[in-house]
Amino acid sequence: MISSKVMLLGDMGVGKTSIMYRLVHDRFDGEYKSTLGVEVLSYDVPADSVRGGEAARLVLWDTDGDFGTRIFDTVYVTGASAAIIVSDVTRPQTVTRMVELVRSFEARFPGRPYRALVNKIDLAEAPGSAEEIGQLPRSSVKFVSAKNGEGIVDAFAELAETIRRRQ
Ligand code: GDP
Repeated sequence: MISSKVMLLGDMGVGKTSIMYRLVHDRFDGEYKSTLGVEVLSYDVPADSVRGGEAARLVLWDTDGDFGTRIFDTVYVTGASAAIIVSDVTRPQTVTRMVELVRSFEARFPGRPYRALVNKIDLAEAPGSAEEIGQLPRSSVKFVSAKNGEGIVDAFAELAETIRRRQ
């Protein structure tokens, strides 16, 4: 099985750790401590979710701290095939930051796959109202909730599919 390193990026508190736990353990716990240092978890996308029928292993790297775009200057990104860049729909400044991170990621790693996840849509009355989201390619943006699971598995399956196509 092909294994790909995927970095999780985004401001503190947007739900990176919660998304990873929803994906890997299919559960949500509102009481997480913030991630200490770096946490790495592996998720296998089932073969029937990847066109071509080959299972794919995503090795997910989650970090704590407020690195912003400086994260791209650290060893954290070494060998990464793709990124999941997260924002919190209830905090517009995190959406602005997500768009900045996407721009930096595209500049530093041209053509490498990513998905921009707007999280916590269970709390939103009008998801997608932040106008900067419209600057990103529609297919790269996903509205998700780690709390109720909406959109999470699909976003990672799509990312695995995109990684596979580019290999
Ligand atoms: P991180 O710092 O980006 O890893 O964010 P966490 O995963 O630690 O989440 C920060 C806070 O947001 C925690 O209190 C979570 O319970 C909460 N949270 C994360 N995802 C969701 C979600 O989809 N919906 C709601 N309502 N809360 C969420």
